[in-house]
Amino acid sequence: MNLTVFGIGYVGLVQAAVLAEVGHNVVCVDVDAEKVKRLRDGVIPIYEPGLEDLVKENHAAGRLAFTTDAAAAIKHGRILISAVGTPPGEDGSADLKYVMAVAETIARDMTEPKIIVSKSTVPVGTCDRLRKRVGEILTMRGLGELEFDVVSNPEFLKEGSAVADCQRPDRIIIGTQSPISEQLMRELYEPFNRNHEKIIVMDVRSAEFTKYAANCMLATKISFINEMAGLADHLGADIEEVRKGIGSDPRIGYHFIYPGSGYGGSCFPKDVRALIKAAESVEFDATMLKAVEQRNNTQKSVLFEKVHQYFGGDLRGKRFALWGLAFKPNTDDMREAPSRVLMEALWDAGASVSAYDPEAMAECQNIYGQRDDLLLCGTKEAALRGADALMIVTEWKNFKAPSFDMLREALATPVIFDGRNLYNPKTVARHGLEYFGIGRQAA
Ligand code: NAD
Repeated sequence: MNLTVFGIGYVGLVQAAVLAEVGHNVVCVDVDAEKVKRLRDGVIPIYEPGLEDLVKENHAAGRLAFTTDAAAAIKHGRILISAVGTPPGEDGSADLKYVMAVAETIARDMTEPKIIVSKSTVPVGTCDRLRKRVGEILTMRGLGELEFDVVSNPEFLKEGSAVADCQRPDRIIIGTQSPISEQLMRELYEPFNRNHEKIIVMDVRSAEFTKYAANCMLATKISFINEMAGLADHLGADIEEVRKGIGSDPRIGYHFIYPGSGYGGSCFPKDVRALIKAAESVEFDATMLKAVEQRNNTQKSVLFEKVHQYFGGDLRGKRFALWGLAFKPNTDDMREAPSRVLMEALWDAGASVSAYDPEAMAECQNIYGQRDDLLLCGTKEAALRGADALMIVTEWKNFKAPSFDMLREALATPVIFDGRNLYNPKTVARHGLEYFGIGRQAA
């Protein structure tokens, strides 16, 4: 099938590559000419396990092309997938300017029937708005009879395992009331639907809402366990024991109840905020979502507060080793990452940072540029040398079993502030280091 994908970001690029891999002919279009040029030259703009090979192989095989020529790309695809960003606007609601721009571009150029697929996370009612706008433009062009549909098909991939998630999706949500659109969307996803039925067809608004409800549910689980961890700190319990105790109940489960430094990334923070805004717009008081967000904002400062207290409220002139910058492992994405809140608080308090992340160093440099109080180190060991404490912010695999003796010798003060509860406090204590986790008691 001939497909077009608008927006070559985390979602657009991964989904396009995975769709090309099963044999579809995919043209990707982006307004970022530099990104398009680099992709044509084989430079992959983001880090995702398995993505580079997949993009290069399918590009070389002629099934995956990159262009800035929207008109040609629109002509190519029977299905036009829009995967552009929906960043938060000033008031926290989803900013739909890119989504609207894509729909308008399509409406101005299309001359044959098309199915426009909204893959971006968009507020309930957006597809209706897009349908109306496309219809208006077509009417203005004298093509009011031209067939088109706007289908909601939200994306559920997780950064860090995006390729695998797209290759083996848990579910494929299709929001449409048109039998023709449903049939074409089924054809599109047929290769991913062989093992068992994963396609769930529903009305457009419910499909749009499903995506927000899923992200808000996951964010709620994280904020819940973080709140329990804060309480455990005060009540003298160990949240890691509690986590196992509650996770063993199948109604609760072990997933997404790891206490930490708060959720970040490009999705949870903005989607929780956007749903709060959507609720406000219909005068519905989303009390729980507001609490989820508030807890998360507080949580991002917990590690800083612990360090601040440990050093008697004076961090001036101190240097802290940070392991992990990305908002989670296996990605270079630092959007809304807890590491940013932590570093900025440390800098404000007069401290400096020596940091290491396996993938997000370039991104960190892009965000903060050159500054005296930020040293980006080539290895995790180099970040440690002479630092006043080690702070763990991202649970990368190769942070999980360090040599604690080496840590003790390298640090000026043998103390670890573990924002991901990677270590057993007893093990760390045996090696002569002090240890502060999230919701854990000292050994
Ligand atoms: P992104 O910012 O990484 O990429 C968006 C791309 O769209 C950019 O390359 C940008 O240049 C391009 N673009 C903007 N306007 C355009 C236009 N008019 N025509 C063509 N290209 C244009 O965004 P992302 O992280 O891939 O997210 C895209 C959407 O998917 C968002 O709504 C997001 O909420 C949702 N989503 C993201 C994830 C994730 O993990 N990142 C997961 C599920 C859903």
